[in-house]
Amino acid sequence: MLIERIWAANSYRNFHYLIACPESGEALAIDPLEWQRCLDTARTKGWEITQILNTHEHLDHTGGNEGMVAATGARVLAHAAAASRIGGVDRGLGRGDVIRVGRTVELECLDTPGHTLSHICLFAQTQEPALFCGDTLFNAGAGNCHNGGNPERLYETFAGQLARLPDSTRVFPGHEYMARNLEFTLDREPDNAEAATRVAAARQREPAAMPVTTLGEEKLINAFFRLRSPTVMARLREVFPEIGDPPDAKTVFLKLRELRNKW
Ligand SMILES: [Zn+2]
Ligand SMILES: [Zn+2]
Repeated sequence: MLIERIWAANSYRNFHYLIACPESGEALAIDPLEWQRCLDTARTKGWEITQILNTHEHLDHTGGNEGMVAATGARVLAHAAAASRIGGVDRGLGRGDVIRVGRTVELECLDTPGHTLSHICLFAQTQEPALFCGDTLFNAGAGNCHNGGNPERLYETFAGQLARLPDSTRVFPGHEYMARNLEFTLDREPDNAEAATRVAAARQREPAAMPVTTLGEEKLINAFFRLRSPTVMARLREVFPEIGDPPDAKTVFLKLRELRNKW
């Protein structure tokens, strides 16, 4: 499985991805808003884009479909429940569906509500597993729930699905927010040495050169996986004394999400 991450260089700070079969050169494009950039990259690599996958229905993920379909004839895949809002969807997806790219690539569809209620993540169970997580999980952060989402469902997705994937899973999110998210982790957990080291490096880097993290690393630096950290819990209780001692993991997650909304 070949993976190409494409920095969109736009104000939304999108990351786009091409996933290609090394044998056939067929490729799937994830959320190709800046579709011309994705197409140029595919042509440079000698790949043919045959499928488009939308992780969810927001326009900053679906807005490139029309141009890409016109240029390539690619089929559009999306969550079955998002299809009517996106329009032009050829294949509606649900939990456990398998997406094949060329002869060698298989991607498993995870149903991951929270950022919206019809959001898909793709999981590749390869030697180095990979997760394409749209606006659900970001580097050192979590998606917001402002536009059709639900924070309780987002917690269930994190705790029930994402946290159970192998620690070696590489994380490929839909936007580049690394430095800002690390700053939030440090605001909530000032003694997180790993986050402190990484925030200095992230501030120096161009977005296109941001490192790819693993899920194991996210569990060290992402406040939304740090629900049992004594520092995180103690500092939350300073703001929300009513949450109990110790607060349960779900409450910690929801309060972190609430703080991050205004932070
Ligand atoms: Zn979104
Ligand atoms: Zn987005």
